[in-house]
Amino acid sequence: MTLTDNPLLQGSEMPDFTAIRPEHVKPAIDALLAEAEAALERAVGPDVPADHDTLTLVLDVPVERLRRTWSHVNHLQAVADTPALRAAHAEALPRFTDFTTRLGADARLYAKYKAVAASPAAAEMKPAQRKALSDTLRDFVLGGADLQGAQRARYAAIQERCSALSKAFGDHVLDATDAFKLDVDEALLEGVPDDVRQAARDAAATAGVPGCRLTLQAPCYIPLMQYAGNRILREQLYRAYSTRASDIGPAELDNTELMRELLELRAEEAALLGHPSFAHLALVPKMAGTPDEVLAFVRDLARRARPAAERELAELREYASSELGLPDMQAWDRHFVAEKLKQARYDFSSQEVKRYFTEPAVLQGLFGLVETLFEVAIRPEAAPVWHESVRFFRVWRGSTPVAAFYLDPYARAGKQSGAWMDDSRARWRRPEGHLQLPVAHLICNYAPPVGGQPALLTHDDVITLFHEFGHGLHHMLTQVDELGVSGISGVEWDAVELPSQFMENFCWEWEVLQDLTRHVETGQALPRELFERMVAARHFGTGLHLLRQCEFSLFDMRLHSEAAAAGRLRLVCDEVNAELQPMRAPDFLRYPHSFGHLFDGGYAAGYYGYAWAEVLSADAYSAFEEAGIFDAATGRRFREHVLEVGGSRPAIESFRAFRGREPELEALLRHQGLT
Ligand SMILES: [Zn+2]
Repeated sequence: MTLTDNPLLQGSEMPDFTAIRPEHVKPAIDALLAEAEAALERAVGPDVPADHDTLTLVLDVPVERLRRTWSHVNHLQAVADTPALRAAHAEALPRFTDFTTRLGADARLYAKYKAVAASPAAAEMKPAQRKALSDTLRDFVLGGADLQGAQRARYAAIQERCSALSKAFGDHVLDATDAFKLDVDEALLEGVPDDVRQAARDAAATAGVPGCRLTLQAPCYIPLMQYAGNRILREQLYRAYSTRASDIGPAELDNTELMRELLELRAEEAALLGHPSFAHLALVPKMAGTPDEVLAFVRDLARRARPAAERELAELREYASSELGLPDMQAWDRHFVAEKLKQARYDFSSQEVKRYFTEPAVLQGLFGLVETLFEVAIRPEAAPVWHESVRFFRVWRGSTPVAAFYLDPYARAGKQSGAWMDDSRARWRRPEGHLQLPVAHLICNYAPPVGGQPALLTHDDVITLFHEFGHGLHHMLTQVDELGVSGISGVEWDAVELPSQFMENFCWEWEVLQDLTRHVETGQALPRELFERMVAARHFGTGLHLLRQCEFSLFDMRLHSEAAAAGRLRLVCDEVNAELQPMRAPDFLRYPHSFGHLFDGGYAAGYYGYAWAEVLSADAYSAFEEAGIFDAATGRRFREHVLEVGGSRPAIESFRAFRGREPELEALLRHQGLT
């Protein structure tokens, strides 16, 4: 095998996915890493002037090729995993990560980009180029490139220690979750669905014990809390779950000290970089301006959700007391009571709904909607794919191709669960001259067709498909030519869910659902009466849910913005609960100790982003509600002002350009049934 016939090394074209084998990974990544390393050395040297176009040609071309090729490997490992591919991926991963980390913190390269920004030619740059350059410089600064001497060393030490602490935090949660086992007689599992019981019986049999084995893993814990009629059992599980990795439990798995140290180190990191708190630092690349702005946003949202939450809580208490013999509803009863009330009130079977969402109708309806709103055509095309069920489509505007995407719809072995959109290739006016068009991966995991019938989607599957398609549109319809800010690149992290959550709204429109449904046997569209019940159930419990999101967001933002919060984490947690919730949490609750988003993920001082983006998407969608949801002029404005501009300007400017005003909360509250 030579490098020239390695299918991963195909220039800027999409690879032949049928031909890629695990043994292609190492030689391809090795060759591209060597090329990129050499390019970096050349780019920072005296022969390359501080000039945008030259730097792009010398450095961006090989680095883009490396990243794009690595994304193909990553992608295949996620959708068509085999032990050999996993091993090849794991072998190359540390070298890829090491290079990209060094690239992002190289002081010589930072100096070169600063010289580009200071050169007279910078004044002539197009706005998108200027935005990409300023993002690049900002990321160098956030990566500590401005620090010198002892401060630089300290910054690096903090990074290293924080990643070790985060890893340990996650390991403790995992170990504490796995350590819990409760063996019970099946008679105690009254109300629990058959498949969950079966899994518990199997777990007991595997362990060689009689009865059923219960765990804190989600597929066991969640249905137990929803359906188990035995209250003592629910309490026992709830206590175990909500005290994982805390001071109430084995000392070796207690995250208390880890959290304190992490918070202190984050505050120190922020101080080194000249910010008053970690929250201030974390907000630099985001749409939200200051911690105070976020705090005010969260408190305002909570205030508006509160009346509905109180009403919902009163309903749950009333139902618990009058129908379920639970006059003193506790935290461990809430999901159980909610499930019972929901069944009683909105009785419909998701199985029944599913028979209307046949895959060909859903895809035809989705594509038709997108074609109408955004003036494109979506046509299938033959292409080499990694599994026979994967389809390839090209997106056209008139007779001009603008993008392409792969749709990998079904769950199967060797494919990760969940759904996502991945950037396989980005739009880029390449320095060699030609325009590279964007390619997206749209990955879902709904059930494959059985018995000669088309695949059937649940309504949730349909919403997920629309969500990912929204990300895909953002990636594919971009008209930006600059690599770093085309499509979703360079979009603020708390605004990137705007197009995706926006698309979800269409799944609740009667007219859209008429085009999206065709009953698997009768061929009929969704009946109005069933639709009405789905809509009614949609708003069940939204007040309490939103308030919970606000509680997490407020806790997160206070923890990362207040001096000395590290030493009073429990107090902050209690204060936030008392401030926002109509029903106080039990004293033993220790949710922060297993809150991976904040301590083992990218959401520190960022949890508010979920609600933040939802306000934007709901408000953007309300423009369609006002003009008519199929209004072509509104669709064109959304395409031009939001989808096409990607990260080439701040998200708030795109929003204002589309909506003609600042974002407002009302649409979100209305969509959630809270007004
Ligand atoms: Zn998303």
